[in-house]
Amino acid sequence: MHTSLLERLKSLLPYKVIDQHDDLDAHRFDRWCIKHYRDWQAQTIERPACIVRPSCSADVQVLMRFASEHTLSVVPFGLGSGVCGGIETTPEDILLDMGSMNKVCDINSMDLLATFEAGINGLEAEEAVAKLGLTIGHWPQSIAISSVGGWVSTRASGQFSTAYGNIEDIIYAIEVVLPNGDIVTLGKAPRAAAGPDLRHLFMGAEGTMGIITQVTLSLRKQPETRAFSAYYVPTMSAGFNAQRHIVQADWRPPVMRQYDASEVIRLFPDYVLSGCGLLLMVHEGPADRVNAELNSVESIALANGLKCADSQAAKDWLERRNHVPDWQDLFDMGWIADTIEVSGTWQQIEHIYQQVINALNTVPFVINASAHSSHVYRSGINLYFTFACKPDNVADMEALYFECWHKTLHATAAAGGGIAHHHGTGRLRKPYLELELGSVGVSLLRTLKQAIDPQDLLNPGNLIP
Ligand SMILES: Cc1cc2nc3c(=O)[nH]c(=O)nc-3n(C[C@H](O)[C@H](O)[C@H](O)COP(=O)(O)OP(=O)(O)OC[C@H]3O[C@@H](n4cnc5c(N)ncnc54)[C@H](O)[C@@H]3O)c2cc1C
Repeated sequence: MHTSLLERLKSLLPYKVIDQHDDLDAHRFDRWCIKHYRDWQAQTIERPACIVRPSCSADVQVLMRFASEHTLSVVPFGLGSGVCGGIETTPEDILLDMGSMNKVCDINSMDLLATFEAGINGLEAEEAVAKLGLTIGHWPQSIAISSVGGWVSTRASGQFSTAYGNIEDIIYAIEVVLPNGDIVTLGKAPRAAAGPDLRHLFMGAEGTMGIITQVTLSLRKQPETRAFSAYYVPTMSAGFNAQRHIVQADWRPPVMRQYDASEVIRLFPDYVLSGCGLLLMVHEGPADRVNAELNSVESIALANGLKCADSQAAKDWLERRNHVPDWQDLFDMGWIADTIEVSGTWQQIEHIYQQVINALNTVPFVINASAHSSHVYRSGINLYFTFACKPDNVADMEALYFECWHKTLHATAAAGGGIAHHHGTGRLRKPYLELELGSVGVSLLRTLKQAIDPQDLLNPGNLIP
């Protein structure tokens, strides 16, 4: 960016424009594995021209009017925990660090609504409502490192989604600054039949359609009781059947997680039973309902060939659930690894599981190909694959990484599944978006982008093929 433009921007937003190199370096990418690998390999990753740290929605409007006037790209940054390459900058771009807009604006205990500035840390938002006996009910594994605006922008899922829904089920209203600087609040009443639901244009748009500046979420009261259960699963299909019967009977344990035998050995070594997987559940709600749920779930599980396991396994999961290794530690061990979340109907899911595991095992140097499910619906379920490769030569890591992704997404789509359950698309899944939307769907997305952001100012190169 030309120095004179940078100076002009600084005068429009005094003390809110930063161009120190260490700050710029810290915002060059998100937690996408491949950017960390390139950084570990000491490859050059470009920094933005500057960072803008707004303190209110009006600042964001000032920035977007300026960007629009001078055709400058703006890349929104929440807390940078995205794992699909949603953040990428060039020396021409402005990085908009929403983490500086982090206030709790309002909590309304009667209507169970809370409004937050979009950059607030998710755990801080949860803690603010918890003081009043309330909960957002959205617990992504990254809750302590992600923002509320990031959740909306990536269509995130929390670990308790089976009962409490994904972020789109929890959003009440969003305030958005459009690429031309106009501002709009979408979501006025508990429900509307006032044309298409425009909030969805920005849910999952990954910073390409507008800047989310405020979010109102629909809360819950904290549950009266919490209980745990665990079952050994002799085959993946027996576990899927049990889960299907549980949700289709209208029981809703907020957490239902089914690990294959390989993940049980790796993640639950104290609960290994020869060749079996594990189904873990957390039950929450009024005590009477939780007791009834525990009894019914046990009957359904046993009727489907599952065996009771120590419910301590589910408690252990809850305690350790947010611990993940750093990318660099894995690279140092000679591994490149990632997780890939997909979904399918009950009829498809066993086939998707088998096809993806088979496909991953054809990739050279694969040392792990495994999966668990973690989000359950009346009509189907997700799968969360984990792969790891340990090549002889670290220079081969990147190609193997992309081969694992390519084979997983194609095998999923060929088996009829959806290629992106909750981590979003970013630059990683972008080349595969047609597998999900079809060519007409991708073209419709391009048409919407062109209408909303005709100058292609917002996060260019992200999401849209
Ligand atoms: C260890 C770990 C565990 C994770 N677990 C989960 C999980 O359980 N569930 C889940 O869904 N995800 C999970 N993720 C992925 C990630 O945390 C989510 O995608 C999260 O919603 C991203 O939020 P963020 O604030 O960090 O967004 P960022 O990474 O900063 O940005 C994500 C995308 O949204 C855009 N964006 C961010 N803020 C705004 C805004 N205010 N307006 C417009 N665009 C914006 C960015 O441009 C980018 O394209 C995990 C990630 C990690 C590293």
